[in-house]
Amino acid sequence: MRLSAYPIVNLKEVPADAEIVSHQLMLRAGLIRRLSAGLYSWMPMGLRVLRKVEAIVREEMNRAGALEILMPTIQPAELWQESGRWVEYGPELLRLTDRHDRGYVYGPTHEEVVTDIARRELRTYRQLPVNFYQIQLKFRDEIRPRFGVMRAREFIMKDAYSFHADEASLDEAYRRMHDAYQRIFTRCGLSFRAVQADNGSIGGTGSQEFHVLAPSGEDAIVFSDGDDYAANLEMAPALPPATARPAPAAPLNEVATPKAHTIADLVRQLGVPASQCVKTLIVDGEAGDLVALVVRGDHELNAIKAQKLEHVASPLRMAAPDRIRTELGGEIGSLGPIGLRCRLIVDHAAAALADFVSGANKPGYHLTGCNWGRDAAEPVTADLRNVVDGDPSPTGTGRLSITRGIEVGHIFKLGTKYSAALSAAVADENGQPVTMHMGCYGIGVTRVVAAAIEQNNDAAGIIWPDPIAPFKVLLVPMNWAKSARVREVSERLYAELEAAGLEPLLDDRDARPGVKFADGELYGIPHRIVIGERGLDAGVLEYRQRRATDNEDAPLDGLAAFLAERIARGTPGSV
Ligand code: ATP
Ligand code: MG
Repeated sequence: MRLSAYPIVNLKEVPADAEIVSHQLMLRAGLIRRLSAGLYSWMPMGLRVLRKVEAIVREEMNRAGALEILMPTIQPAELWQESGRWVEYGPELLRLTDRHDRGYVYGPTHEEVVTDIARRELRTYRQLPVNFYQIQLKFRDEIRPRFGVMRAREFIMKDAYSFHADEASLDEAYRRMHDAYQRIFTRCGLSFRAVQADNGSIGGTGSQEFHVLAPSGEDAIVFSDGDDYAANLEMAPALPPATARPAPAAPLNEVATPKAHTIADLVRQLGVPASQCVKTLIVDGEAGDLVALVVRGDHELNAIKAQKLEHVASPLRMAAPDRIRTELGGEIGSLGPIGLRCRLIVDHAAAALADFVSGANKPGYHLTGCNWGRDAAEPVTADLRNVVDGDPSPTGTGRLSITRGIEVGHIFKLGTKYSAALSAAVADENGQPVTMHMGCYGIGVTRVVAAAIEQNNDAAGIIWPDPIAPFKVLLVPMNWAKSARVREVSERLYAELEAAGLEPLLDDRDARPGVKFADGELYGIPHRIVIGERGLDAGVLEYRQRRATDNEDAPLDGLAAFLAERIARGTPGSV
């Protein structure tokens, strides 16, 4: 492409809501433009990157034996009623009505449609296993669309769905998808990790997320330093403390704590560490009652763990303050387990405390010297909290540390959740119907582009990994307007590189070198060649890799081979 024919102007000012660097750079470099909340157009240079990611995904899915299909984005409501998700999916599901008053949804995902295809097309176990995939638009009415295409409302997903006669076959497909994902994200030039993930109401261990590691990531990822354990914080188990609870030593004592509403206030007023205090959180119970969840003052409640507990409503809902007032006679900020008239579930670490501080169930007061078994009944305990840095690994080897990640992919053993609901069965060897086992495998294709930038940028702009760069080589002619020789050589090199598949971007604008260099760096083109009169006299060109700080000579003759060799070396060190 020639920049003289490229109409998109770089943005100097980015809107204040562009909080993260990938969103800022995608707007500044003109890769995307916002239409409305969570809706973006892909502009020419951005689309080139997106198509490269898609091509890598498609190649690796095909290599893994998956079959590409394309399903409608608009799906009939009846299918969603059949699966139960018409109600379950909640407000993220965009519901539509046609002129005949029939209900539809704009697909946020395609389990229903693909299972409908499977129940019509697949009759016998001999047709299995099969893995259908598509690369297509999805719509989710995200409560808080943000970070540009990272959390958009409309986005492109690669979604694959596999069908099996038995669980062993599903396990095999799941492993294959895991390996395909490893290849995909490696080929995209990303630094990533596969981590164990929560698999909602389905249970079991068949769910992994692929995270691009970046400080701006919305997810917290937990690693062990002792082995290869890695999990999403949502589901990393916290082991109960290894040591026994000390015996009570202090008397129970009520103290006035005016204006202490948070643990931090309490720490300040009473001079006790947060780890000696407990927090009491009231949530809706399964039976329409209220349930108190107790965690240590320095720990955070883990909603995913809590909502899986018997007696606790799922999804987790904090109880309404007026219900707490009327039914428990307390105020948020002054609640505590002693004398509380509702079901109590206590985190292992909070249950291991002696002589602790808690709310007195009386506004403006707290209790010190609280002890389980003496002042309150021996508690029912559970794992309720997020793990923290330094906790022992649940595998028993090593300590945990926490870092941030961007979820770019998710593989999931669905079992028979959808096939049972939609009666998708095949005949087995004996002609008996068996409900198919399913797996589903997603990649946020548009999110991958943003995640790649999040991981690869500097003060000057984007630094594309070679395999997904919109153009591999930037040709910067000096004095384009005045030097016929520079123009002639540049045109020749442009044609040569184009023919060699090196995807050159020719900056044939009549602009100052500084402007050309700055734009090339903003766009993140990984390899730059400068063509100037002085170099031509000596038969050389100036080469610089986007991450390098110095120029090197590149040969005028054989430039394509020189660049191909540099590209084959790969982009050094992304993180
Ligand atoms: P998240 O926890 O980020 O909301 P999810 O669990 O809803 O993700 P899946 O349903 O597993 O996501 O979708 C598959 C992939 O689609 C995700 O791994 C992610 O990369 C991508 N994705 C999901 N929601 C969005 C979105 N709003 N914008 C862009 N990509 C998305
Ligand atoms: Mg989501």
